Amino acid sequence: MTTKVKLVNRRRSTFLDRLYFPAIFKGLGITFRRMFKKKVTMQFPEERWTVRDKYRGMPVLVSDDEGRPKCVACSLCEYVCPPKAIYIVGQELEEGNKVERGPAVFDLNMLRCIYCGLCEEACPEEAIFMSKTYAVTGLSRDLMVFDKPKLYEIGGVREDEIKKWSEPTKGPQDRSHVEGDSIAPSTAASH
Ligand code: SF4
Ligand code: SF4
Repeated sequence: MTTKVKLVNRRRSTFLDRLYFPAIFKGLGITFRRMFKKKVTMQFPEERWTVRDKYRGMPVLVSDDEGRPKCVACSLCEYVCPPKAIYIVGQELEEGNKVERGPAVFDLNMLRCIYCGLCEEACPEEAIFMSKTYAVTGLSRDLMVFDKPKLYEIGGVREDEIKKWSEPTKGPQDRSHVEGDSIAPSTAASH
């Protein structure tokens, strides 16, 4: 097999090109013209970009409005994550907890994450969310692996209407308090 070689004729630099002054003055001209126009740059990190509502930033873990961590260590997010950025070790929780399982370890490797949002889609507990955090930095590879406390710290509290593990309260959702009702409390509280 023969390889075709295509020769490209490059223009040789002229004397003026080699002086560099025309290019320097041309560049300064652009700078001066820009000085009187509206600024398009930002002084990051003092100034921050306001992201749009649907922006998908770093995935984080969230607690409910009672401060309860929502993750039950089902590992669905770990399973669906295309670049295998999530690592979970589950554990049984103590008696008295309304939840049986939670993560002992929940690591998220932000060097691997591609911000696809599949973890959020897969989570049955609404425990992991794509936050608005876009400045994800670290001074070493290890610091780019975010552990459970860090993910909960960034995620904070996210209020939603699903209070699966809360005590039943009086109201239209809580049919277990209605006399003669055959719906078990656990069923009533789970939707
Ligand atoms: S956003 Fe995508 S790549 Fe990142 S942790 Fe979630 S599933 Fe994995
Ligand atoms: S974040 Fe959601 S999907 Fe992932 S382990 Fe926890 S409960 Fe399961």
